[in-house]
Amino acid sequence: MPAIPLPGLQSLRPRLEGSLVLPGDPGWDAARSAWQLAVDQRPAAVVLARSAADVAATLETARACGLRVAPQSSGHNAAPLGPLDDTILLRTFEMAHVHIDPERRLARVGAGVVWAEVSAAAAKHGLAGLAGTASDVGVVGYTLGGGLSWFARSHGLAANHVTAATVVTADGRIRRVDAWHEPDLFWAIRGGGGAHAIITELEFALFPITEVYAGAMYWPLERAEEVLKRWRDWTATVPDSVTSLGRLLRFPPLQEIPQPFRGRSLVAVEAVAQLDREAADALLAPLRELAPELDTFAPTPAAALDMLHLDPPGPTPAAGDGFQLTELSDETLAALLAVAGPGADVPLLTIEARHLGGALAPGARSGGAVSSLDAAFTVFSGGITVDAASAAAVHTALDVIDRVLAPWRARTSYRNFTERPGHGIAFEPDHVRRRLRQIKQAYDPHDVIKANHPIDSSR
Ligand SMILES: Cc1cc2nc3c(=O)[nH]c(=O)nc-3n(C[C@H](O)[C@H](O)[C@H](O)COP(=O)(O)OP(=O)(O)OC[C@H]3O[C@@H](n4cnc5c(N)ncnc54)[C@H](O)[C@@H]3O)c2cc1C
Repeated sequence: MPAIPLPGLQSLRPRLEGSLVLPGDPGWDAARSAWQLAVDQRPAAVVLARSAADVAATLETARACGLRVAPQSSGHNAAPLGPLDDTILLRTFEMAHVHIDPERRLARVGAGVVWAEVSAAAAKHGLAGLAGTASDVGVVGYTLGGGLSWFARSHGLAANHVTAATVVTADGRIRRVDAWHEPDLFWAIRGGGGAHAIITELEFALFPITEVYAGAMYWPLERAEEVLKRWRDWTATVPDSVTSLGRLLRFPPLQEIPQPFRGRSLVAVEAVAQLDREAADALLAPLRELAPELDTFAPTPAAALDMLHLDPPGPTPAAGDGFQLTELSDETLAALLAVAGPGADVPLLTIEARHLGGALAPGARSGGAVSSLDAAFTVFSGGITVDAASAAAVHTALDVIDRVLAPWRARTSYRNFTERPGHGIAFEPDHVRRRLRQIKQAYDPHDVIKANHPIDSSR
C-alpha cells in the first residue's frame, strides 16, 4: 500500500466547504461506506464535497499528491472500482439540490441526488423523469451509464435526455457542458460512463407522465418455463408504451421480507404500461390466462413505481452482474432453467430479463456515446452476500449463469448492470470506444479521474 501523503492531503481541509475525512477520523466508516455493503472501500481519503469548488480543490490536491479521484454518490456500483489506496473517494451526497423547471420540463440536480428526490419533486408538476427501478440509485451515476427506466421502450435511455451539465475536468476547471459548449464532453457523458469529468450538476428532460397502469403477476417457481415462454411471446406483441421484465425470485425466510414473499420461490412478470386501464387489461389477458397466484396490476402514480421491483430498501451486502442477450429462445430458456429453474438450488435472489427494443433499438435515438442497447433482452442476476461463504456461492452461481447463456450473449454489454468487469464484452462498438479514449486523453491525460468502468474495461 503506498504511503498516504498526509501533509498534502491535510492542506485540502481549509479549502473545502464540505469536509475531508482521513483514516481514523470520526465518521471515517460512514464516509467510506458504499450502498453495496459487501464492498469494503479503503481510500487514501474521503472528501464529502458540497460544491464544484470543492471538487476542483480535490482534483488539484490529488494531482499535487500523485493521487486519483473517484467520484461516487450512492455507491450502488462500487464493486468494480477496485483498490482505492491511491485514490481520494469523492462523495457527492451533500450536493443534493433539486430544481424543477415545469415550463421547460427540465430538472437540474446536484451530483448527489437520488431518483426518489427527483420523482417526488417532478410529480408536484405532473412530470416524471426516466428513473430506474430503485429510487435510492444516484441520478448522475445511473445516467452516465445509460439509464434503463420503466419508460425505456417509449423514451430510450435516460442519457439521451440530458440537456446540459456542469463538470469539473481533471485540470480543476469548472465547465458548462452542452450541445454548444464542450460538445465532445457532452457526447461522452451521455452513456459513456464517468471517466471523463466529474459532474457537479446535471440537467435533463422530464415528461408529462403522472399515472401508468403497472404491476406484477406472480406464480410458483415450478411454473417458470410456461410463464417465461408466455411472457417472451407476449413481448413480441406489445407496443413501445409497455416495458416489462420476467424474473425468477427466491426470497429468504427472513422477517424483513414481507408476506406473501417471505421464504417463497416465484416466477414473476412486472410491467409498466402507459395505457388506460381497459387497453392495458386487454393487453395483459394472455398473461392472466395463466392464473397468477397474485396480480398487483393497478393504476399507479409514476412516482410510486419504485415499489414495483421489490428492490432492497437500503444499503445491502450483495453481488450481481448482467449482460445482454440477442434472443430469449426456447433453447435460451431451457439453458437458464436447467441451472436456475425449479429443480436447482441457486443462492440468487433474482435472475431477471428485461425486454429491450422500441426506443432502445439502434437507430431509434441518437446523440450520446451510448444511445441504444443493441440486444433483445438484458439480464441481471444478484444475491445477498452476508459472509465469505455466501459471497463465494453467489459468485459461483453468477459464473454458471454467465456460462450457460454465453451462446446467446450480445456483442455489447450494459454498463449499469455490470458489477463484475473483465469478461471481454465491450460496452460499446469499437469506433465509439476510440472516440471516448480520445476525449479522455484530451481532458484527463494523466488518468486522474477513476471511474468504476474505465474506458477500456469490459464486462
Ligand atoms: C438495487 C439496484 C437497482 C438498479 N436498478 C437499475 C435500473 O432500473 N436501471 C438501470 O439502468 N440501472 C439500475 N441499477 C444500476 C445502477 O444504475 C448503477 O449501479 C449505477 O452506476 C448507480 O449509480 P450511482 O451513482 O447510484 O452509483 P455509484 O456507485 O455512486 O456511481 C457509479 C459510478 O458512476 C460514476 N459517477 C457517479 N457520480 C459521478 C459524478 N458526479 N461524476 C462523474 N462520475 C460519477 C462513477 O464512475 C461511479 O463509480 C440498479 C442497481 C441496483 C444496485
